[in-house]
Amino acid sequence: MTGEETDTATGDAAAADSMEGLAVRACERCPELVESRSQIVDGVGPADADLLFLGEAPGANEDEEGEPFVGRSGSILDDALRDAGLARVDVRITNCVRCRPPENRDPTSEELANCRGYLERELGLVDPALVVTLGKVPSEHLLDRSVAVTKEAGDVVDVRLGERSYRVVVSVHPAATLYDGSQRETFFETIARAADIAGVGGDDGGQAGLDDF
Ligand code: SF4
Repeated sequence: MTGEETDTATGDAAAADSMEGLAVRACERCPELVESRSQIVDGVGPADADLLFLGEAPGANEDEEGEPFVGRSGSILDDALRDAGLARVDVRITNCVRCRPPENRDPTSEELANCRGYLERELGLVDPALVVTLGKVPSEHLLDRSVAVTKEAGDVVDVRLGERSYRVVVSVHPAATLYDGSQRETFFETIARAADIAGVGGDDGGQAGLDDF
């Protein structure tokens, strides 16, 4: 990206060139991920969502279906949203990197940096009232420090990205509830708290109320 201008309000200029609205087209910045992906997995949900969930990277199911957080982790997220009076269609869900890493390894710092402009542009355009980071990688990516997610789950942090500031709630990854039952309550409470802070869901906010379930 040498020599390219930086648009701090909506992500870098190169990202803007490669995006049509909120969708990334034909990006090949990460050679290993280009090899391992079957498609680019963009964020889903309303372009003006108040609540945005940020995961790490697409896994096998996401790569196949072209949507973030499907499969078992997605079901747990759906359950927690429903408990908070929300549905998946009410929120935006996206990832730090948009292509599946080989053998589900963590994205490298270079890959995270390569995809950062797309994420910042998406955040700038959606302009959510609250971002929820799902797990260690997205939490550390946004907070730019080491994060102990089980200890910090539910904490609210203001994060500055370029000229904008975002309110962020740290959360454990939904899959953590599969390996450690005690994390289920933590996860569900965090999502309910996030919905409350964003002013959505419950009995008085969300587009899909509890009556829908
Ligand atoms: S992860 Fe992001 S930057 Fe890397 S190839 Fe995919 S879309 Fe491009």
